[in-house]
Amino acid sequence: MKYLAAYPAALRGQVEQLIAQGRLADLLRGRYGDAHDIRTDRALYDYVSALKNEFLRNAEPLSKVAFDSKLHVIRNALGTHTTVSRVQGSRLKSKREIRVASLFKEVPLEWLRMIVVHELAHIRVREHDKAFYQLCAHMEPAYHQFEFDLRLYLTHLDGGGDRLWAASAAPGLL
Ligand SMILES: [Zn+2]
Repeated sequence: MKYLAAYPAALRGQVEQLIAQGRLADLLRGRYGDAHDIRTDRALYDYVSALKNEFLRNAEPLSKVAFDSKLHVIRNALGTHTTVSRVQGSRLKSKREIRVASLFKEVPLEWLRMIVVHELAHIRVREHDKAFYQLCAHMEPAYHQFEFDLRLYLTHLDGGGDRLWAASAAPGLL
């Protein structure tokens, strides 16, 4: 239950019970619709830019947004945010990049939104402190629910469960 380590023991116990009863996948599928269709880096860039313009209009522009298949989906590394500063002429220029783990290509839109909101919030707040999560919740009021459910899904995958939103698992093709 490494993805749920930060949650209360009683809650983890409930999750263990759901897994033991084989009900976790159905619970997640019942709570969310189909996978989103943002599959390319270009589409991801547009999606992230729209959210950034809505909430962080005055922040510096993003130089790169991409899915990254090499990102290990471990705690706090669902995405990355980097700022590379370098001197250009007489000015210091910083480049902001956001990378999102490829896993997010095949999930409900709510979870993609959650990770994008997370990485955008880091433009303003570096640490995972109270101010950080307040900003996340401002951008997405259901942020905490989405993060918890995503962690349930990671726990499901970690236990050898199927990718519930993978294209090959899409219903209605027969
Ligand atoms: Zn973070």
